[in-house]
Amino acid sequence: MNEPTGVAADAATSIFNLPDYRVISASLSPDGGRRVIVETDQPPGCPTCGVVASRRKERRFQRIRDIPVAGPVEVLWSKYRWYCEEPACERLSFFESTAQVPRRARSTGRLRDQLVDAVIRSGRAVSETAAAFAVSWWMVRVALNEACFLTLPDMDQLSPRMLGIDEHRFRSVRYFQDPESKAWTRFEPWMTTIVDLDTGQVLGVVDGRDHKGVGDWLFARPLAWRLAVQVVAIDPSAAFRKALRMWLPRTAVAVDHFHLVSLANQAVTETRQNLSQQVKGRRGRAVDKAWAHRMLLLRGGDTLSCRAALRLEEVFAADDPTGTLQAVWQVKEQLRVLLRTGSLDDAAAAKIELEELVKKAARPETNRLYRTVCRWWKEIEVLIITGATTGKVEANNTAIKNIKRTARGYRNPDNYKSVILLRSAVRTAA
Ligand SMILES: [Zn+2]
Repeated sequence: MNEPTGVAADAATSIFNLPDYRVISASLSPDGGRRVIVETDQPPGCPTCGVVASRRKERRFQRIRDIPVAGPVEVLWSKYRWYCEEPACERLSFFESTAQVPRRARSTGRLRDQLVDAVIRSGRAVSETAAAFAVSWWMVRVALNEACFLTLPDMDQLSPRMLGIDEHRFRSVRYFQDPESKAWTRFEPWMTTIVDLDTGQVLGVVDGRDHKGVGDWLFARPLAWRLAVQVVAIDPSAAFRKALRMWLPRTAVAVDHFHLVSLANQAVTETRQNLSQQVKGRRGRAVDKAWAHRMLLLRGGDTLSCRAALRLEEVFAADDPTGTLQAVWQVKEQLRVLLRTGSLDDAAAAKIELEELVKKAARPETNRLYRTVCRWWKEIEVLIITGATTGKVEANNTAIKNIKRTARGYRNPDNYKSVILLRSAVRTAA
């Protein structure tokens, strides 16, 4: 490092603390604002030949945006043009630049770092960050895009073993009118996230939730990358299965535990609603035990406390004279047992038991659930052997929903994707 010879930094420079700069003047304006003028603390090298310059030409003042230093400050850089004195160099003169303020930059590196930190690590909204640092919304976006470019790992260099694919809706449904035909089309802004199940890192975010988006993304990966993937966990979506058969034909597909249990819970809820209509001719109310304890019905039967289990018995005794709701509840519990088995033999035995319970319940809701289980049996077997579930994708989707909530709905999908990828990369590295 080159230290300015024998001179300790003056007070203003050490307080301002911007690397490669010294403060040459600080003044108060009548309206209470503070203005700091800085210049570089050592002669720059020529950008073409690298020879350090010694003769200055003219200077000009450039306003640079910086972080607040004990409150907002206006920073002016007294920026010189230098002569290049190297005879072999074709460049005659150049304006100086520094690591903090590279060529063409109009803000300091420490400001850009703090903007990215506020959005990515602290989870603040882009607009809020812009207001806090008194910069434009665009400037925060540009800093984020730059950080994406610099810090996101090259995904093709990673070799994930297990992938999870799951969808989420990133904003509410919109309707667009065709100006000519006046026809309205419904637009559902869905996005699909692809996650490395071992590390939990989001590898990709693609538009839509059909086989095309995921298929194009997989197709863009090198062949070796695709061959290294052993298992992919998906929710029971035929579209994803189709994309996987095309692009990862040799990869085992597991259907996700969480989604199957939520289908079973849906069957319980629909049965409860339909029974209420059939028996009472109306929707459930707080006076109905089955309605009052509707969440209790959805909880895992083996996780209930003694008191909760007693309450559940009361619900069945008081509100389920035919035993139908209880039969459906048992189907749900049996499916959970099935998904927890550790071997294919145990799973097959649990499936036979499930079939009997479905026959006993004799409800359209559980018949449909059983048909789904049969249709996805191969994928359920993969789940039981590998334990690959999209739980980590779900955790990411929750984080993604929080990103969306702090930003009050992103309008531009690309902005949204970059924040998702960056935040996930930061979290994985941490
Ligand atoms: Zn030069």
